Amino acid sequence: MTLSGKTAVITGSNSGIGLGIVHELAKAGVNVVLNSFTNSEEDHALAIEIAKEYGVKAKYVSADMSKGNDCRRLIADAGVCDILINNAGIQHISPIQDFPVDKWDAIIAINLSSVFHTTAAALPLMRVAGWGRVINIASAHGLRASPFKAAYVSAKHGVIGMTKVVGLETAKEAITANAICPGYVLTKLVEGQIPATAKEYGISEEEAINTVILAKQPSKEFVTVEQLAGIVTFLCSDSAAQITGTSINADGGWTSQ
Ligand code: NAD
Repeated sequence: MTLSGKTAVITGSNSGIGLGIVHELAKAGVNVVLNSFTNSEEDHALAIEIAKEYGVKAKYVSADMSKGNDCRRLIADAGVCDILINNAGIQHISPIQDFPVDKWDAIIAINLSSVFHTTAAALPLMRVAGWGRVINIASAHGLRASPFKAAYVSAKHGVIGMTKVVGLETAKEAITANAICPGYVLTKLVEGQIPATAKEYGISEEEAINTVILAKQPSKEFVTVEQLAGIVTFLCSDSAAQITGTSINADGGWTSQ
């Protein structure tokens, strides 16, 4: 089975891991729908560049993954959704007693509820096509906790639970649902945590990287976007047809501890 000609919707894909997945899938001939909520000229230009570089169809759809209706409209605008990559996500670091309620609400909406809405909208399209892949970018924080990340850890644990449910509900069909649980990847999301982590622990930013952030990652190396994109391609392949309702960890040994 070739992936060429299939269509993938990748939420939160104008940067970081999502954009890496866009490149990898487009390289395999998959038509891609890029998304963010920013709707900038650069976002639209990015889709044009991807189409030109890989000779696939690519379009950018602006939709705010914190809003259920937008999540469902994204899938409706795509029209076809053989591969759904739930990747959009944000982070906020704060002790629980000071955790801003608006940040809690936003993280639960973007990192967890969006997965419910897009999946609910995409499964009927996959059933019409007779094939589908749901791939949720969860996190090692879907399996382990860290202090000061109440909303993120709760949302990512929720994503793993939802992945299991979707895997069971589609088990008799040619549709699979899995999560990928990365350890730390040096994207904007992590770069943004370095100053906050340094502040919470009262240490320098360099110490925050070495003694707090990579402390849990025994390999002492960041996971790369390309490695994660490769796991996505594998999960889309025939070899992964019986892998469903589970998660693949790419965390340099973090969750073995
Ligand atoms: P990133 O900040 O580069 O990318 C996040 C993406 O989400 C961006 O494209 C952004 O535009 C989009 N986004 C944010 N809010 C949105 C909204 N309301 N509507 C639509 N799109 C929105 O960060 P990243 O590291 O590439 O993160 C991607 C995913 O990977 C997230 O779910 C994150 O939790 C997960 N993850 C990241 C790491 C890491 O170390 N970087 C580790 C584990 C899991």
